[in-house]
Amino acid sequence: MHIGVIGGGQLGQMLGLAGVAMGHRFTFLDPAMEPPAASVGRHLRAEFDDAEALERLAVECDLVTLEFENVPQASAERIAARNCLMPNPQALAVAQDRVEEKQFFEGLGLSVAPWVQVDSVRDIVQGVAHLGGASILKTRRFGYDGKGQVRLADPAHAAHEGGPGNPGEAASAWEALAGAPAVLEKLQHFEREVSIVAVRGRNGEARVYPLVTNEHRHGILWQTTAHTGDPLQADAERAARLVMEKLDYVGVLAIEFFVVDGRLVINEMAPRVHNSGHWSLGGARTSQFENHIRAVIGWPLGETDPIGEVAMLNLVGTLPDPAAVLAVPGTQWHDYGKTPRPGRKLGHVTVTAPDRTALESRLDRLRAVIR
Ligand code: ADP
Ligand code: MG
Repeated sequence: MHIGVIGGGQLGQMLGLAGVAMGHRFTFLDPAMEPPAASVGRHLRAEFDDAEALERLAVECDLVTLEFENVPQASAERIAARNCLMPNPQALAVAQDRVEEKQFFEGLGLSVAPWVQVDSVRDIVQGVAHLGGASILKTRRFGYDGKGQVRLADPAHAAHEGGPGNPGEAASAWEALAGAPAVLEKLQHFEREVSIVAVRGRNGEARVYPLVTNEHRHGILWQTTAHTGDPLQADAERAARLVMEKLDYVGVLAIEFFVVDGRLVINEMAPRVHNSGHWSLGGARTSQFENHIRAVIGWPLGETDPIGEVAMLNLVGTLPDPAAVLAVPGTQWHDYGKTPRPGRKLGHVTVTAPDRTALESRLDRLRAVIR
């Protein structure tokens, strides 16, 4: 099959690697000069709203999927009118807008952090007072890796700086986001952050990977650890299945949660393969990339079990010496071929071990090499 992919970053590259191995070929639509996925397929260089390029992608490919969720809605609909776009434009619309997304989750009975919609400084001032405690302002659209977010102090503690709902702080937060439509969320004092990667096929068959624990640094995913038997597995799995059913979703979907008082609070979803699922490449019987390709083609889905204890470390900003990484047993090296830049995800390392003690010691050795 000839698979069209909107976006040509490292996620596209890894989708391509998995798909080429199964006999498929790819065209990636991406405005960048030489995106990572160009190494594994044809690169259609155009903006995501270029009508002619979208038309070509839809007509020349057997089906179209994506690795980047901020595809303009008009572009998604243009493709869906000519060919099969998976996931569908409705699922994308929900995932692209934090207000739609939260309302969708609430409609399914899933708990989200208390939030208010923000369209002005006044909304922030009132929202801070209404939510109580520290909060976090996020743009409704286009946020990733902690970008498009500003934290606001607990008004009770910030009283000396202007009183509850400190208007100065609200105004500067609003300015920091350039007045973009936003949501204000109550800051969650979570015990940990977890996510679940799930996949649904064209016939509605669904499979779910183990719930994983994520640690972030500066808003960017730093480490994912996958263990089977997380006590919250069943709850996360139920949420994922519910979301996929409701959206008539096809492909891989990821959902991020906070664990607060031992319970799941849903944060956001990504309608695509996800960084917190990279461990599955080499760490599970079938990677999220292979399963996404199988799902969109209509092939049976693969087993999602981990092959042992697994962790994934992101390589952000600079790359360590691959030889030093690979000297640690059970490791795999992934380099996306991107130009190094501070805060940029350049690659990742997966490490597997037969038990948790061995995993911890391998992680200690890796941490001495990976900054
Ligand atoms: P992004 O789209 O950038 O991934 P997120 O909403 O996932 O946006 O926020 C990035 C990170 O910021 C989260 O993984 C979490 O560590 C922190 N964060 C976001 N919202 C909250 C919140 N309400 N309470 C506490 N931490 C939060
Ligand atoms: Mg996130």
